[in-house]
Amino acid sequence: MMPSMKTLIIGCVDPRVDPVDVLGVQAGEAAIIRNVGGRVTPSTIDTLAMLRQVTRAAGGDLAAGWNLVVLHHTDCGITRLGGAPKLLAGFFGISPDRLHERVIDDPRASVALDIDALRASPEVSGDVVVTGLVYDVATGLVETVVAPSLLQERRPALPVTWRSRAAHVPLNRSLTDADA
Ligand SMILES: [Zn+2]
Repeated sequence: MMPSMKTLIIGCVDPRVDPVDVLGVQAGEAAIIRNVGGRVTPSTIDTLAMLRQVTRAAGGDLAAGWNLVVLHHTDCGITRLGGAPKLLAGFFGISPDRLHERVIDDPRASVALDIDALRASPEVSGDVVVTGLVYDVATGLVETVVAPSLLQERRPALPVTWRSRAAHVPLNRSLTDADA
């Protein structure tokens, strides 16, 4: 029941950006929470709190030794929800006049913002290692925006090792493109 890599990934529902494919995760290695944009919302925090309770019930804790990865991407459908402020406000649990604070049009800014939202959440252990990534759907490359670090202490931690196809295969493809 517990992911063998003690890893939780928060990602977008976009079928082009399945975290299993993008990060080269194998079956059983990671638990994945997906919503529109891969955003950290009150619902995401509730899910994390529930998963922590499940982990505790199994005799562990979703704390030291766990990785929490937030994966956003370019060309996300959430950027086309600007005309639906009530939906977005409900999603983020804020009033519509504060939607600009949640930055829906810049994945690099939003992934950093959402790591900060995790840092501000007492439900999430400060001993987990957090990483913020952006997947570029045009190039297939994954960019590390927030390097792996302990959630609360903001100091460097050992990076998560991904068998990332996305980080390598598209690089070869772009080299080929450059040659052509
Ligand atoms: Zn998306």
